[in-house]
Amino acid sequence: MKNIVLFGPPGAGKGTQSEKLIEKYKLIHLSTGDILRAERKAGTPLGKKANEYIDKGILVPDEVVIGMVENKINEFPDCPGFIFDGFPRTTAQGEALDTMLNEKGSPITMMIALEVDEDELTKRLLLRGQTSGREDDKNEDTIRKRFKVYNEETLPLKEFYNLQGKYFGVNGMNSIEQVFEDICKLLD
Ligand code: AMP
Repeated sequence: MKNIVLFGPPGAGKGTQSEKLIEKYKLIHLSTGDILRAERKAGTPLGKKANEYIDKGILVPDEVVIGMVENKINEFPDCPGFIFDGFPRTTAQGEALDTMLNEKGSPITMMIALEVDEDELTKRLLLRGQTSGREDDKNEDTIRKRFKVYNEETLPLKEFYNLQGKYFGVNGMNSIEQVFEDICKLLD
């Protein structure tokens, strides 16, 4: 079983690479951002709760997201593995994920981090904002807030996985195809 954390700041290409990876390795794509947006669209209580956080560019509380991920993992007891995209985003989420997966005897295989500089990320997000309909991609203040949250709350996970010998970086400035090739080399 392969359980991969695809890591990186907003706009690094996690969604794009996840789509290619699930096709090749038949893994389940678990994107907490996608789940939250779907809940919001459906107008569920969870979606309503997440709304204010997403629009401000801040993180939805850990217990909400952790419960959501646990439900999703339990939906696929026999799958070949998961690609976690946008999760974990805090050390508490990383610890909870380790606990969940260790109980199932299938821990995280590796964390693959897409490394992209902030100028390029801002360009990509503003461009995506023109077509994705995502409000949090249209507003430069929200984008800056998301980088700040990433640097302060999410980046410590690099060390968390590094200490487990599971951190691998990939240059995310390269073309989509090149990045995909580099990730596949690590996975194979
Ligand atoms: P994303 O699509 O991954 O960029 O996520 C969009 C927004 O959803 C984030 O800015 C957060 O408000 C929320 N979100 C997504 N994943 C998480 C998570 N793992 N923990 C907390 N909030 C999250």
